[in-house]
Amino acid sequence: MGEEARWAELETAAQQILDQLDPRRRWRVVDAGPGDDLGRIDIQGRAPDGGRWEQASVHFPLSDPWPETIAWIASELQDYVVESGLQWGAAAPKCPGHRHPADPVTVEGTAVWVCPATHAVLRPVLA
Ligand SMILES: [Zn+2]
Repeated sequence: MGEEARWAELETAAQQILDQLDPRRRWRVVDAGPGDDLGRIDIQGRAPDGGRWEQASVHFPLSDPWPETIAWIASELQDYVVESGLQWGAAAPKCPGHRHPADPVTVEGTAVWVCPATHAVLRPVLA
């Protein structure tokens, strides 16, 4: 895969993750690219009144395989988005039947959301 295609695919993947973290879809990926030693994804979130934008960058190792990269990015985005002023710590994505959020991990070569209590696999991170 070429570099341009890889970054485009990472942007698409990050947007899919953001839409799972916030079903109201207030977050969007604005850019992705290489940093000094790390990859970088820039995101913006829009406040409900449309006025204030939250902005952040998340970083990830460039040398990891794709599934580990997706799980890492999901974890970074989850940490940021859940703690942001837009979500006020609400668990996202919700773990069915529990109050905690699902965790992104790699199981058998696929990035998946799991229940942190039972370790049950809920669904793939990417459709
Ligand atoms: Zn659970």
